[in-house]
Amino acid sequence: MSEVTEPTLLIDRFGRRVNYLRISVTDRCDFRCLYCMEETMTFLPRAQILTLEEIYALAKAFTELGVEKIRITGGEPLVRNGVLQLVEQVAELPGLIELVMTTNGSQLEKFAKPLSDAGIKRLNISLDTLNAGKFKILTRNGDLKTVLKGIEAAKKAGFHRLKINAVILKNRNHDEVADLVRFAIKHEIDISFIEEMPLGVVSQHNRYEAYYSSEEIKQDLLQQFTLLPSTTKTGGPSNYFQVQGTGTRVGFISPHSHNFCSDCNRVRLTAEGRLLLCLGNEHSMDMKQVLRANPGNHEIVKQAIIQAMQIKPEKHEFVLSDQPVILRHMNVTGG
Ligand code: SAM
Ligand code: SF4
Repeated sequence: MSEVTEPTLLIDRFGRRVNYLRISVTDRCDFRCLYCMEETMTFLPRAQILTLEEIYALAKAFTELGVEKIRITGGEPLVRNGVLQLVEQVAELPGLIELVMTTNGSQLEKFAKPLSDAGIKRLNISLDTLNAGKFKILTRNGDLKTVLKGIEAAKKAGFHRLKINAVILKNRNHDEVADLVRFAIKHEIDISFIEEMPLGVVSQHNRYEAYYSSEEIKQDLLQQFTLLPSTTKTGGPSNYFQVQGTGTRVGFISPHSHNFCSDCNRVRLTAEGRLLLCLGNEHSMDMKQVLRANPGNHEIVKQAIIQAMQIKPEKHEFVLSDQPVILRHMNVTGG
């Protein structure tokens, strides 16, 4: 009789189990959000980014190692050719419980239904402001109307849940937090407020001056809403509250004011195939090199992933200053 062996799970040196992978399928984007990118960016040459087949091979290896949740992100994931086919294939991987995506919404009118049909269960859509002029300033070239139409299309497409992600910056959009919550309530979706993280050098924007804490946002909201603590956990760092009398939950992602590292369950794969063990540190394993040096050798890829867990740092420290410690931009990191 053959012995039944338990699958190997990914456990780091601090006893944390990694069961969540975020995949940046491209560093490219049709927006240039001023907290994420420079106005003029040089993107990676095609040969340097993982092919869709390589991304699939890595997603398969991770699910065989116990990863249950995958987020497809970028850059803007919907500008990568072939992303729908990738989603369809990844959605079929045994062991995967949740396949989700983060998008800026610009392509959703076209892609919402196909994405839902392909197996994306939950969608996070970034929306920092409801003012078209401010939207143009924050994204440098985005069009609010197009994104709002995208959100409408997503509502009709049959996702299990939709969530707005809003990065809040002092004196740019901090006065809109209540309006954004009202928007979420009206559309029966959730919303998370995110403190800006100091990733990559961005000019035309002072991060120190723009810092607006989750606590300040919460105090602003409490003037107009009753927020009931929620036990909801989505496997992410958001701390959730239910808006009383509504189906909407409000989350706060506070990398500065609350360190959520102790129960970190995730790793990130960059568009160029670097497996990043922590958002706020540079510890990484070059999975593209492993894949390309060992074509078709799935076991070596899995061993490399297991080894990488040994270099996952205990925590990050984000410091607000003109010169960020982490020089890679969020679009490369896969936010
Ligand atoms: N392009 C997609 C989008 O904007 O939703 C997906 C990638 S984007 C890098 C993912 C998320 O990271 C977005 O919600 C964006 O607002 C957020 N983000 C980008 N730069 C950030 C920063 N410096 N600090 C905090 N959040 C950031
Ligand atoms: Fe593009 Fe998303 Fe970065 Fe904005 S936050 S520039 S939409 S990748």
